[in-house]
Amino acid sequence: MPIFGNQYAQLPERFYTKQPATPVSSPNWIAFNQNLATELQLDCDVLSGEKGLEILSGNMVAHDTTPLAMAYSGHQFGNWNPQMGDGRALLLGDVQNKVGQHFDVQLKGSGPTAYSRNGDGRAALGPVLREYVLSEAMHALGVPTTRALAAVTTGEIVRREKPLPGAIITRVAKSFVRVGTFQFFVARDDKEGLEKLADFSIERHAPDINGPDKYVKFLDRVVSSQAELIAKWQLLGFIHGVMNTDNMSVAGETIDYGPCAFMDEYDPATVFSSIDQFARYAYQNQPRIARWNLGVLAQSMLPILNEDEEKALEIAQASIDQFAPQFDAAFRTGMLSKIGIKTEQDSDFELAVELLNVMKEARADYTNTFRALSRLNLKNPEIGAAQLPLTEWINNWLRHTDGGDRVDQELMRSVNPAFIPRNHRVQAVIDAATEGDFTLFEELMSVLKTPYQDQPVHHAYSLPPEPDERVHQTFCGT
Ligand code: AMP
Ligand code: MG
Repeated sequence: MPIFGNQYAQLPERFYTKQPATPVSSPNWIAFNQNLATELQLDCDVLSGEKGLEILSGNMVAHDTTPLAMAYSGHQFGNWNPQMGDGRALLLGDVQNKVGQHFDVQLKGSGPTAYSRNGDGRAALGPVLREYVLSEAMHALGVPTTRALAAVTTGEIVRREKPLPGAIITRVAKSFVRVGTFQFFVARDDKEGLEKLADFSIERHAPDINGPDKYVKFLDRVVSSQAELIAKWQLLGFIHGVMNTDNMSVAGETIDYGPCAFMDEYDPATVFSSIDQFARYAYQNQPRIARWNLGVLAQSMLPILNEDEEKALEIAQASIDQFAPQFDAAFRTGMLSKIGIKTEQDSDFELAVELLNVMKEARADYTNTFRALSRLNLKNPEIGAAQLPLTEWINNWLRHTDGGDRVDQELMRSVNPAFIPRNHRVQAVIDAATEGDFTLFEELMSVLKTPYQDQPVHHAYSLPPEPDERVHQTFCGT
């Protein structure tokens, strides 16, 4: 039975460069995601076995695959780069879940491609583990994201600031089409390419869309899915770190996990990425940057939005203008849920904003503050509140919600996680794995499977870092 379909390979040759992965000396399993494989109707026995290891390390090309590196361009930190593309990734092909939705499967770290420029096409173990942990955690937290199907070590060394063990992640996305993929075609005045790319994206991500305005409707769809996505990031304290246009998916999924991390103490100015010198992608800037990236997408789609240039601009503007209200609405509803309010009344949202201010002042832990409020005994709050630097706010909250009668703590526990992949924990996983010990990886993965459940035995995983455990910077590792 074939493992992979090849829908993207059926697009014109200029969309990609076909090529196999570069073999590695001695691949070994780190992880195989049995649940995801089952969801995608993959043959787990084959893929998790010896043959699977060969395929997912790039040593064997499955007979039905056409591995290819996708072409794209992008704005990196605001600067135009026409020549990007998969420099260390290869698309193996597509698979389908039980209801017939298609997903693309990619190796990352599988060797140089036509788009590698000076890069080695490889990935170090650290970034592979970070992507594996963070993307699966995001999924469990309810955030649209690429998934991790497998990870392997290569048995080879990659040279970064220091020699590091090499690894390859297999990741799965609704598609790997990016804002930057659209930029690639418009930069080449390739209207036919744009149309073909948009048609592929519509068929994949919005098959309900059709008619003469289909490209406008698709742009609207990307805008709203991104507004929803970024609101979820903000509500959970997730910082992507490299929101370049080539790292923004038109499927509305979180994609290209690099130096990403979750915020511990609440500070809107938080930045982790070592390469983000000007804090362009700080937590508080993410909505604005998403809107900017979508502006680039709209601009790239101008030639196919309308024959008339003026009209096309108007349409694009109207579409982009939807981002702010849609983001605000999603953020507002989400923030109200975080303080237990289902049906908004006067100044409820201001109450939530006030909480954020108090948290910022107190340098309170973002995740644990909300989780503590979800557990607080509302009828006898003094006792619980004693642990929080928030007594005054809690009193306001109770007064404002009819003594807590309007607060739904079950709702709160379903949106305020007990566990996030804390940066110092991810770092500890990477450090241990680099020494050959994967037990911390296994344990963290198991805790993060059910992030909204209290797991008393794993209480330590909910704690913020001690001062000496604190991770100040994260690295792309490219
Ligand atoms: P990213 O930081 O993952 O968004 O990557 C930005 C660009 O650099 C993409 O075109 C990547 O394919 C390319 N790139 C990143 N790391 C490497 C590497 N080790 N070898 C080749 N290309 C790379
Ligand atoms: Mg990228």
